[in-house]
Amino acid sequence: MPSSHLDKKCACQETQRYFLDRAFARLKLKGAQRELLLSSFREMRVTVHHNGENTLHTFQGYRVQHNHARGPFKGGLRFHPDVNMGEMRALAQLMTWKTALVDIPFGGAKGGIAVDPGQLNDTELEALSKRFCQKMAPIIGVHDDILAPDIGTNPQVMAWMLDEYSKTHGFRTAIVTGKPVELGGCAGRLEATGYGVAHLAHTAAAEISLIPEQSRVVIQGFGNVGSHTAIGMAGKGYKIIGLSDVRGGVFAEDGIQIDRALAHLHETGALVGLDGTSPISNDELLELSCEILIPAALEASITCDNAEAIQARLIVEAANMPVTHLADECLQRRGIVIVPDLLANVGGVLASYYEWVQNLQQFPWDYETVLRRLEKRLSRTYEIVSELALERQVDMRTAAYELAIRRVDQAVRVRGF
Ligand code: NAD
Repeated sequence: MPSSHLDKKCACQETQRYFLDRAFARLKLKGAQRELLLSSFREMRVTVHHNGENTLHTFQGYRVQHNHARGPFKGGLRFHPDVNMGEMRALAQLMTWKTALVDIPFGGAKGGIAVDPGQLNDTELEALSKRFCQKMAPIIGVHDDILAPDIGTNPQVMAWMLDEYSKTHGFRTAIVTGKPVELGGCAGRLEATGYGVAHLAHTAAAEISLIPEQSRVVIQGFGNVGSHTAIGMAGKGYKIIGLSDVRGGVFAEDGIQIDRALAHLHETGALVGLDGTSPISNDELLELSCEILIPAALEASITCDNAEAIQARLIVEAANMPVTHLADECLQRRGIVIVPDLLANVGGVLASYYEWVQNLQQFPWDYETVLRRLEKRLSRTYEIVSELALERQVDMRTAAYELAIRRVDQAVRVRGF
């Protein structure tokens, strides 16, 4: 039984397997067809190196291309010591379901290098990024496989990869998304995931008759996604009473001002100590009395150990797989509504798609256009998932997985894979 002291990654993989098995069984997809949908199209492993002072350092790099029935492979690149083929395989698959759910013409991929980027200087990181791109060149392309940032990578890494790829293929901005705006990056890409989470949280809250001014919100994680979610929720009138980062949480019954939280984080490197708030542990934060809980930090932060103690009426999964499958069962039984990760954090890949479209057309959109299109597409996706859930009398996660897998399956069949 997964519990908080078990390895989060195991809990995560078990959870993903459980949700997929359930969806495949409901769709009556078995045998070879199931195998085809779950297997990677291609898995590539390379050795990359940089020259340190008098020493050569080598690292393993990976790219898993899961499925491209609906369009080119698409997915992030992670630089982290734990990167391995198994993890990349699971994450590549998740990308396939996400792109299908939000109905953009992409498949799913994921890759990375098993390295701690914090241990390298910029020259070493640039060398590693460019060598990785050189070795991946035969399998990537603007209509084949498009790269993006993930944990440990950023717009600068994307700019290095774009530079490397362009040496042999001409200036191809569409080979990477999440790049600096100066090189064709999309206005609003940085905040897209968090703003999307806030937009969907607001939509789901309205469905259960929550009124923004009377609803208390708690957010775990105050990085890219958590902070932009907080800005979005505060902007819609919700009262943010709890926030946390890796160093701990802060609580204020009367509400936290997000601009002051951001300034404090910027000055001190942590949220704890913010004026007008009391310190709280990350465990206590999740169990606060509130209407909306948004886990935006880690996988498996809500397990069967704390699911009974959650007091929120609505959980919006900004992080990937923050709720284990056993916790999910418990929360469903208690009538807590969950907007699943597959849907909740899809704003990021949607903005990446918009970036790719702008790059192919050589025609940049302004910030307002990006946000308007993002909100419209997210609302439509939410509506479809919500209607399907109602029609089938299932929760939104089950409906989202079924819809995504069915779309991929249909594309695989008509293409004659
Ligand atoms: P980030 O690194 O910018 O922020 C992570 C936040 O979580 C930080 O505030 C960090 O202090 C906090 N944190 C780390 N360990 C913690 C712990 N043990 N307890 C409490 N807080 C902890 O990352 P991000 O880009 O904001 O991503 C957050 C989550 O959202 C991840 O699960 C990621 O996979 C998912 N996600 C991100 C995007 C995106 O566009 N950035 C898209 C989809 C999904």
